[in-house]
Amino acid sequence: MELTVPYHLENFIGGNFIGPLSAQFIDNINPATAEVYGQVPDSNEKDINAAVKAAKKALPEWSVTPVEKRFTILNKIAELIDENLDILALAETIDNGKPLSLSKAMDIPRASSNFRFFATGIMHFANESHAMEDKAINYTLREPIGIVGCISPWNLPLYLFTWKIAPALAAGNCVIAKPSEVTPVTAFLLGKICKEAGLPDGVLNIVHGTGPNCGEAIVKHPDIKAISFTGSTRAGERIAAVAAPMFKKLSLELGGKNPNIIFADCDWDKMMKQTIRSSFSNQGQICLCGSRILIESLVYEKFKAEFVKKAKQLTVGDPFDEKIKQGAIVSKVHFDKILHCIDTAIAEGGTILCGGKSIRPEGRCANGYFIEPTIIEGLGPNCTTNLEEIFGPVVTLQPFETEEEALRLANAGTYGLAATVWTQDIGKAHRVAAKVQSGIIWVNCWLIRDLRTPFGGMKNSGVGREGGWEALRFFTEAKNVCIQF
Ligand code: NAD
Repeated sequence: MELTVPYHLENFIGGNFIGPLSAQFIDNINPATAEVYGQVPDSNEKDINAAVKAAKKALPEWSVTPVEKRFTILNKIAELIDENLDILALAETIDNGKPLSLSKAMDIPRASSNFRFFATGIMHFANESHAMEDKAINYTLREPIGIVGCISPWNLPLYLFTWKIAPALAAGNCVIAKPSEVTPVTAFLLGKICKEAGLPDGVLNIVHGTGPNCGEAIVKHPDIKAISFTGSTRAGERIAAVAAPMFKKLSLELGGKNPNIIFADCDWDKMMKQTIRSSFSNQGQICLCGSRILIESLVYEKFKAEFVKKAKQLTVGDPFDEKIKQGAIVSKVHFDKILHCIDTAIAEGGTILCGGKSIRPEGRCANGYFIEPTIIEGLGPNCTTNLEEIFGPVVTLQPFETEEEALRLANAGTYGLAATVWTQDIGKAHRVAAKVQSGIIWVNCWLIRDLRTPFGGMKNSGVGREGGWEALRFFTEAKNVCIQF
């Protein structure tokens, strides 16, 4: 597989690579250099109609393809992702600005794990039966839904794109998928891989374009029966408003404002190392990053001094440089948004303990979008900075006196995606984990992922869960058959 730069990406529809029917393209910008390095189809509802037509043609055969055959094809896709790790990682880094080391170690390996996991998962996906003593027996069939839509964001491009597509295909659906228009290249390359792996034409259709033009056409199409979406709460709200009157099945994985709750009795060194990671990995652009750090007052000053020192040591610069820890922010729009959030924090009375500014690295990345790891203190739970998602390398510190106060701070606001709890007291860990309003809680760790576990948020962080059987249940219709004896 090759990636020639500059390129014109094409849609992958019915097994063919074709340009958008409008012949319109969007510039794709490398955020580390601010240079245009490719063109992305600006597709609209006409391209989605073509994709649905191709999916309809493929569905009768794919939906009854034996699970062993689906396993073989999906497993082959996983193998081909592994074989092409270097080129996929390079494409992801150029597109997104994340360190190449991270693309190689996390993003691309996880994409192949997603396919491998659901390839094997579908072989073990069993139907329930419910016997009613001497009266009757029920069994529940789980059938493919039909044609489903998968829409993903830019922060973990191939990782999250495949997290949706793999279970949808494994369950026997045909898919219309749209990656983020900001980071489309690995999704384009995935089309090539699927073709090589022998996925029948039309089973997976990858259409590129913006949210309003292309994403919304997927959500509105009457023949697309379910939408799996990961992205911002604002777009999720819009998608829910469009899809709900059409009675579509919806899975919404949305924004977060995650608390890290640090008690004085924690394993200090482990906590410090992981809190640096959970604050600034991928430039803080992971939905699971902790952005509100809550620290027991007894150790607040100690935490602050050490945390600031360690954050200052994180080198920011060229994502290709193996020594750097922080790459570029994904786009100019997002870069401006983060700097605006920092200005808001200052206007609200926050004190910048470190960072707070953009950076101009020397050399080829001098015009890129780089921001220093930023730590802010002095703000309460009800200010904009602590309520709204920033989704960048910016965290706030807040002290607490008691367990109750820690919970009050943690549960403030409208989000409920993930939280971390740091304590050696097992009783406290269980109590706090039970009371934090989040779909995912890590105790004394961060981002350990078992793909069998339910993944998703409470409150405005989403509706539904992904992962394991949850995903396979989402992508199937349950049909109960009752037989009287
Ligand atoms: P976004 O909502 O702007 O876009 C996400 C995707 O939706 C893109 O492909 C976009 O083109 C499309 N889209 C936008 N508006 C649409 C519409 N009206 N109809 C259909 N599609 C539409 O989000 P983003 O800026 O790409 O990603 C960052 C956001 O994603 C953050 O809020 C982050 O927290 C969230 N996120 C959540 C999770 C999770 O698992 N909960 C994971 C990663 C990112």
